[in-house]
Amino acid sequence: MKNIAVYPGSFDPFTNGHLDIIRRAHPLFEEIIIAVAINSKKSSLFSPEERVEMIGKVFKGWDKIKIDTFEGLTVDYCKEKNSRVILRGLRAVTDFDYEYAISLMNKKLAPEIETYFLMADNEYSFVSSTIVKEVARHGRAVSNQVPDIVGDALTKKFSV
Ligand code: ADP
Repeated sequence: MKNIAVYPGSFDPFTNGHLDIIRRAHPLFEEIIIAVAINSKKSSLFSPEERVEMIGKVFKGWDKIKIDTFEGLTVDYCKEKNSRVILRGLRAVTDFDYEYAISLMNKKLAPEIETYFLMADNEYSFVSSTIVKEVARHGRAVSNQVPDIVGDALTKKFSV
């Protein structure tokens, strides 16, 4: 069975923190699927299609990285893709409660699927999509927090 990890998230937008998690997980798996969660109840800045396109550009030429969208439960998506690993990143303690609760629920729903956590690197532990959007909305540069493609898309989004 191929060693496939699913990295689910909103990625609205994809940041250097997300990128760091992928870079570090890259040698550990034969394939990593970055799975953009479609959540109609959550309002987003970028459409799922825009997010997939941007992330695709970031990982152009990375053969092991696939980008997809999914709706519904992450464990169901993992089963569909024959993956037994959910990859998540952990920043400050504020992430912990939520991530722990979700991982326990996922374990109940699908005991054969494990959640692997990578601790955020010091440099990215305060990088968040929400803060990046807020800063960009007010016309300030976020170039050290997001890939160039994402920075350009943010500038474009807020200049119209
Ligand atoms: P969510 O899945 O809650 O919508 P995100 O799309 O922001 O969250 O993030 C997806 C995953 O990446 C989550 O596990 C989140 O904790 C993790 N993550 C977000 N930002 C960072 C960062 N700066 N460093 C490491 N991991 C991060």
